[in-house]
Amino acid sequence: MNSNLRIAIQKSGRLSEDSLSLIKECGIQFYNGTGKLKSESSNFPAEFLFLRDDDIPGYVADGVADVGIVGENVVVEKNKEVTVAHRLGFSKCRLSVAVDRSRDYHGISDLQGISIATSYPRLLSGYLEKNGLRADIHEISGSVEIAPSIGLSDAVCDIVSSGSTLMSNGLKEVEVIFRSEAVLIAGQKLDAGRQGILDKLLFRIKSVQAARNNKYILLNAPNTAIQAITDILPGMKSPTVVPLAEPGWSSVHSVINENDFWNIIDSLREAGAQGILVVPIEKMIL
Ligand code: ATP
Ligand code: ZN
Repeated sequence: MNSNLRIAIQKSGRLSEDSLSLIKECGIQFYNGTGKLKSESSNFPAEFLFLRDDDIPGYVADGVADVGIVGENVVVEKNKEVTVAHRLGFSKCRLSVAVDRSRDYHGISDLQGISIATSYPRLLSGYLEKNGLRADIHEISGSVEIAPSIGLSDAVCDIVSSGSTLMSNGLKEVEVIFRSEAVLIAGQKLDAGRQGILDKLLFRIKSVQAARNNKYILLNAPNTAIQAITDILPGMKSPTVVPLAEPGWSSVHSVINENDFWNIIDSLREAGAQGILVVPIEKMIL
């Protein structure tokens, strides 16, 4: 047996594209031809297993794969012996209860005694129990949203992101029971070699995520405004200030967080910044 880190990812579905781009941005190359179930990286000690998302927690718990990328909703529902090693920030969605649009709904106690169709019986029953409620849970594996219209249940508990699927099935979202995103899960203790590879992978993932969340900013300002501007710009250590050829002017370089972006830009303009350039960062080593 070789000592590659075995990484399970979804073969095809809503997690696949973002999982593959994250791996690519980590500089890990492998051949991903259609129909392949397994592929070894050509430049990183890892091999990829392409699986159905539902099977990933089980394979990781059993040690068939060392780590996996899967929705947290599936991790909690499957309840296998795995730990969340890192949150990945994509495939964000929520698990919600929805009822027929025409149904009167006053609050959570309206769920008492009704029938609810779901592919997430464990998450749903945990939520109901926590709220001191009992309902009749129908476990179905797909097309949950049509259950009320065919008379199978009074309500559904299903994954929602925009809500458009619910809407087109005449349903309204009434309770959010779980918020999910893709996570990297790991199984039992890895041997030292594989743990070392996992640490390298996590380091790369964190650098990619930091770069995605930050932008590099360059601007020009009169020297009299530099203090005010550097007070606004945090920078990784502190902003870089370099003189321009024109006397009395400097260029300021720094890194800003995507979330603060527009507020910072407005304050910088008010403080006298000109010629502001904002550029993406490819990798950010923290
Ligand atoms: P598989 O064939 O692998 O079993 P699936 O049909 O069960 O796939 P997908 O629909 O591909 O699953 O969803 C995979 C995961 O992506 C879900 O468990 C959830 O974490 C997330 N997800 C589902 N729907 C959305 C959505 N609309 N937006 C964002 N993320 C979603
Ligand atoms: Zn699935």
